[in-house]
Amino acid sequence: MTRVHNFSAGPSALPLSVLEQARDEFVDFRGSGASLIEQSHRAKRYDRVHFECIADLTSLLGIPDTHQVVFMGGGARSQFAHVPNNLARSAPADHLVTGRWAEGAATEAAKLVDSRVLYSSADSGHDHVPGPTDFTADPAAAYLHYTSNNTIYGTQYHHVPDAGGGTLVCDMSSDILSRPVDVSRYSLIYAGAQKNMGPAGVTVLIIEKTMLDRSDAGLPEMFSFAKIAAKDSMLNTPPTFNIYMVGLVAKWLISGGGLSAMEATNRTKSGTVYDAIDGSGGFYAGHARRGSRSWMNVTFRVAGRPELEPIFVSEATEAGLVGLKGHRSVGGLRASIYNAVPLASCEALAAFMGDFARRHG
Ligand code: PMP
Repeated sequence: MTRVHNFSAGPSALPLSVLEQARDEFVDFRGSGASLIEQSHRAKRYDRVHFECIADLTSLLGIPDTHQVVFMGGGARSQFAHVPNNLARSAPADHLVTGRWAEGAATEAAKLVDSRVLYSSADSGHDHVPGPTDFTADPAAAYLHYTSNNTIYGTQYHHVPDAGGGTLVCDMSSDILSRPVDVSRYSLIYAGAQKNMGPAGVTVLIIEKTMLDRSDAGLPEMFSFAKIAAKDSMLNTPPTFNIYMVGLVAKWLISGGGLSAMEATNRTKSGTVYDAIDGSGGFYAGHARRGSRSWMNVTFRVAGRPELEPIFVSEATEAGLVGLKGHRSVGGLRASIYNAVPLASCEALAAFMGDFARRHG
């Protein structure tokens, strides 16, 4: 078996040991004589998987008792509507727009509730995130919404934006579990699983319990945070296999030393690729401003020679380095180096970049 160096932006690389365990347990789940996906979500066996996943996420992220883990379907994008519908019925929803997904969240909110954009980085091609003094939050807003890592543009917050004492909501789809987070500062964190947590199909929410009072009783029940939380995410059939996979990934992170260890690795990995850009003598140009550089998605161009980029992608693919094409909306090149991408893959990419620059420079 040959596994490629996988730089896919999402769905993306998962730890090999997790894939192997899932394979080994797939047909006969833990001696039950049936696959997990063939069993009732009401059975004790699934119960254990479900609540162990919640317990492991809780311990990894240090989630306090004030907060609850909730699983929903529909991807992170569904949350762009669920969040305002649940949390912003009586005050405006404020947004920091730092990329395509942050903009999507703001646009959906504007269809449903009173909403405002406090900051946008669109004028500079979303090459940065705002600094602590670049906007003033209104504590009377329903919440301040931001996107901690901008998957397409390769920018990331390395601080927690100041909500002015108000409520903070974060789309952490592309950097959750990549570093420690002080969950107590957030009223809601949500993330699609398919980058750092598992297969596409489950969205993880970490919600402050007092926020559940905001869910209007008139909401359709499957759209109501309060109704789903009250049933421990089993109001309907949850995506059992996906939650099982998230649980395996959580155990993999715990056995690797937790989120501080993961952060240290992610710093080293991203540093390896950024060094290849910065040390290329101007052959490559990074998209993000230095202080906003993402540790998860490294976006760059062949400076002034875009015609070389498709050649870069196809030569890289031939060399076993896949998924390096930039998002279709912005072009260029992007290396997504989520938790499960090993340092060796980043080193292989850096070596390939150096070699490509020597041959074409
Ligand atoms: N938010 C962010 C930050 C993302 O990167 C993505 C997907 N790439 C989304 C939201 C949309 O997620 P989904 O496809 O799960 O709806």
